[in-house]
Amino acid sequence: MRNARVLVVDDDEGVRRAITTALGDAGCEVREAVDAASMRTLLASWDPTLLLLDASLPDASGTQLLQEIKAGEATRDLPVVMVATRLPDELTELALGLGAADVLRKPFRPRELVARVQAQLRVHALLRTTQASLQSAEEELNRVLEDSENRRKLVDILHEVTGDLSSDEIYHILARRVARALALSRCSVILAKPGDRVGVVATAFDNPALRNYEINLEAYPEIRAALEHGHPVLVEDLHTSPLFEDLRREWAANGTQVPIRSVIALPFTLGKVQAGVFFLRRMVDEPPLTHEDVEFADSVIKAAVAAIHRAQVIETTKADNARLEVLAHTDPLTQVLNRRALTVRLASELERARRYDSMLTLLMVDLDHFKNVNDTYGHLVGDEVLREVATLLQNEIRSVDVVARYGGEEFVVVLPETSLVGAVTFAERIREHVAATPFAGALVDALQVTCSIGVSSYPSTTINTVDDLFARADEALYRAKADGRNRVCL
Ligand code: GH3
Ligand code: MG
Ligand code: MG
Repeated sequence: MRNARVLVVDDDEGVRRAITTALGDAGCEVREAVDAASMRTLLASWDPTLLLLDASLPDASGTQLLQEIKAGEATRDLPVVMVATRLPDELTELALGLGAADVLRKPFRPRELVARVQAQLRVHALLRTTQASLQSAEEELNRVLEDSENRRKLVDILHEVTGDLSSDEIYHILARRVARALALSRCSVILAKPGDRVGVVATAFDNPALRNYEINLEAYPEIRAALEHGHPVLVEDLHTSPLFEDLRREWAANGTQVPIRSVIALPFTLGKVQAGVFFLRRMVDEPPLTHEDVEFADSVIKAAVAAIHRAQVIETTKADNARLEVLAHTDPLTQVLNRRALTVRLASELERARRYDSMLTLLMVDLDHFKNVNDTYGHLVGDEVLREVATLLQNEIRSVDVVARYGGEEFVVVLPETSLVGAVTFAERIREHVAATPFAGALVDALQVTCSIGVSSYPSTTINTVDDLFARADEALYRAKADGRNRVCL
């Protein structure tokens, strides 16, 4: 009965004294009230754990008071033991029906009183622990529900994030979604490393124009602190936070009005590099940001940053693949198509010409006595000449034409939709242009080079395949060489 506080309400002084003595001896703290009015006062000021209530008081009936107590928000759980001199069955039934814990007949033996009060206190203590655990279970349930709500938002966000997106787009979506989930008016991503004096705005949900804008981190102690320590920094109110003490002095001196109230700076890393902070803010007229907001944003951002990292790897792989693709088709010295890619291209061009009944011409361009260039000036100069010839050819052609390096000092030009006559004119122009151009001027004194060109054209009775096109052009080229070089032959 330690810590039990029993309030005795009885107008009979003798009864009160007997109860107080018996319960006091049993270890209870007891207080007495003589009527309903003093009972109400003590109920409010003392908060008893049990009430012994006389069934008839001068200013009210016990059952009325019982009803009042059971209806009161603060007192409804208080165990009430009714005490009555005469105890008709109806009263017992009524009192118990109204919520009395027990009913006791006067006069009572002190031991019976103590035993009954003890029993009620025990039951009530049990009730209280049950209620408390019920309440904490309920709170836990609510937390779990809220958690799952957060998780659902998280899944939503990640779902949006894991698409085929660049890091920039992901930053933007994250900033937008975190802003929406936490009802933020300001949310941005600042890229910076610990110790940096300047950060770059990767995205700003509230102001897209700020993208790539540089901010001076001197004015953002929360961002610096977050970067420094690698932990989220929450400033509930930057108008009172010690972190902003110096800045506040500056604002006061300059008359600067700062409309921001709360800030969260959440550092994130990509791979092993500290990449920056998510920067969440609320204005002075909005509720402050809390630790729960930090927790939520942190879990979203951690998961999302993993997704960004993945996206970056994918981006790099894609870029690598694109580079490999280009490499696979390109001659490394001259950057024009290589022979393999030429063959593929020529096959589809021939197929097209066949299908649409159009023409297709091939020029095989071979530099004359090129071996001499290498022998005289060296291979590096020879290589430079080859590069410059490739560039010259590329500059001469139309967008539908194709230049390829067929072999060492042999190039092929494919001219779709071009007749033999048009192709010969074009070949002549190239031949003249090559002969008139000084090559490798950056390495040696201007170098003269000539070329011979063999032409083959579809449709022709002797040409059915790509190999035929090559063979006929090669034969024509051989004739050009044999006829003295620096000429075009069919
Ligand atoms: P022709 O007029 O009969 O074509 O004489 P040519 O010397 O040009 O022909 P040939 O086929 O005898 O020799 C081709 C030369 O081209 C051999 C080689 O030195 C040079 N060559 C081939 N590929 C490269 C290259 O990638 N770089 C350099 N610098 N030279 C190359
Ligand atoms: Mg040659
Ligand atoms: Mg050759």
